[in-house]
Amino acid sequence: MKKKWYKDGIQFECQGSGKCCSSRGEYGFVYLSNKDRQQMAKQLKLSLHEFTSKYCSQEDDYYYLNSGDSPECIFLNKNQCEVYAARPTQCKTWPFWPESMNAKTWKNEISNFCPGVNKGRLYSQKEIDQIVNEQLLSEIE
Ligand code: SF4
Repeated sequence: MKKKWYKDGIQFECQGSGKCCSSRGEYGFVYLSNKDRQQMAKQLKLSLHEFTSKYCSQEDDYYYLNSGDSPECIFLNKNQCEVYAARPTQCKTWPFWPESMNAKTWKNEISNFCPGVNKGRLYSQKEIDQIVNEQLLSEIE
């Protein structure tokens, strides 16, 4: 089997820039699985229906967080996530998204965009593949 370009792992540690919680072109939407909506509703002490009507929009079968006119996520407050413990899978799995994990995209887009790349803890190939799978699964939930 062909070896993956990240076979030796990748360092990543969030630097708290909040950049991934602000509009970032094609990465601008925060999509929510059903489980994400349930967990966020619970943390905010709302019913699923209340949470969805207050904070979500829907396109086809996909829900995403409303952002209003702001380029920032509605839950970002002074670079802190107000729903951190129940943050969406998409936020937990950043930057190891399926669409990020080719060498060219990683080098040209992700590592230039995210100040946490190549810092701190080393994620092994196995851990990265698990995170990528977690994100893939959330997209079909
Ligand atoms: S939910 Fe939290 S972690 Fe996700 S984009 Fe919004 S502020 Fe950032």
